[in-house]
Amino acid sequence: MDANLDGLLRTRLAELDAANRLRRLRPWHWHNGTLRNAAGRALIDASSNDYLGLSQHPLVKARAAEWAERHGAGAPASRLVTGTRDITLAVEEKLAAFKGCEAALLFSSGFQANATVIPALAAVMRSGIPGDGDDALCVPGIPLRGQATAIFSDELNHASILHGCRLARARTQVFRHNDLDHLDQLLSQCTGRKLIVTESVFSMDGDRANLPALVQLAERHGAALYVDEAHATGVLGPQGRGLAAECSGGVDVVMGTLGKAFGAFGAYIAGSRVLIDWLVNRCPGFIYTTALPPAVLGAVDAALDLVPTMDTERAQLARHSQALRELLAQRNYDTLGSSTQIVPAVIGSAADALAAARRLEDAGVLGVAIRPPTVPEGTSRLRLTLHSNLGEAGLQRLLAAVAASLPSRPSTNSGSD
Ligand SMILES: *Cc1c(COP(=O)(O)O)cnc(C)c1O
Repeated sequence: MDANLDGLLRTRLAELDAANRLRRLRPWHWHNGTLRNAAGRALIDASSNDYLGLSQHPLVKARAAEWAERHGAGAPASRLVTGTRDITLAVEEKLAAFKGCEAALLFSSGFQANATVIPALAAVMRSGIPGDGDDALCVPGIPLRGQATAIFSDELNHASILHGCRLARARTQVFRHNDLDHLDQLLSQCTGRKLIVTESVFSMDGDRANLPALVQLAERHGAALYVDEAHATGVLGPQGRGLAAECSGGVDVVMGTLGKAFGAFGAYIAGSRVLIDWLVNRCPGFIYTTALPPAVLGAVDAALDLVPTMDTERAQLARHSQALRELLAQRNYDTLGSSTQIVPAVIGSAADALAAARRLEDAGVLGVAIRPPTVPEGTSRLRLTLHSNLGEAGLQRLLAAVAASLPSRPSTNSGSD
């Protein structure tokens, strides 16, 4: 056996390669709003999460540049030291108003927010329960003592949520995707404090959680509800405020990202003032990291001005995604439960999904193949995303390229991986 680290790594990577699961970084070039591959070929972007095209919007770029010029390239300290500026607090207030919540708190990334806010909430939920104290959070490697606090997590939740659940040192129960009867059963068996965690729009399937029903279920079981709006923020709900905005205060913790439809970077948690006060005091992913730089705050500030005015763009996104789903359905590709700007075309094996992505790129569209472990075995897919700046002509080119590279299938079969 080879105990040499590089040797071990090489062996493991070769195994991944043999299983068509090896990932490689490829450079993409954005110039004047056009996406090109390394060979210089212009492509339609059907993969990024910049759903409203805001990363290229003149006002967003200008305010990022202006705030960097005025306030500096970085905010080189953590928030509790000197990283909090007047502009930081102003953007947080604007975010809270946008989400219809009492308060909001910026995070460096969505991954960091989910991975550390969930443990910070589990810590407070353990408090006061004998043998299950909040001190446990600070002592890595000590086995779980109490079992009183439980987290209930949808089986398709993002990797960052899974990390948060693992770090939370609470019992995590996974419920079948969007299966509220299953969740109801699991909640009934639990006597302690409970936290339900779901996405409002699922990142790889493009379907939605039934938030009004979840709010009711949470209330009935005395559970707190945590909703990740990474793919809904800016795109869905009244004026793009997300799906939690339709549940007037029923969601206790709303998380969202600023690097997707907002075209910037970072993430936020929105909720009650006391929730934010707790995180400022006890969330390591907020406390022990450098504050977001002024350029990012400027971009977010501009996006907050633009997003509520973009109903036309949102309506177009919905129409275009429907047209893509119809084309895929005609050709017998399973689009899972998609009802949003994220439209999966399930291919089956990882090798076939990679081949389909190559054909699509040859036809002028970037639609990246998503493989296990990101998605379950046998459901490798092209995850196609729509963008409001595509235009009608762009949509026709996209549909033609998809038709040319995804041959009709006899039925929606799922291959093996
Ligand atoms: C992208 C994503 C995240 C992570 O957000 P980043 O800001 O990119 O780190 C979290 N949750 C979901 C559902 C996501 O899709």
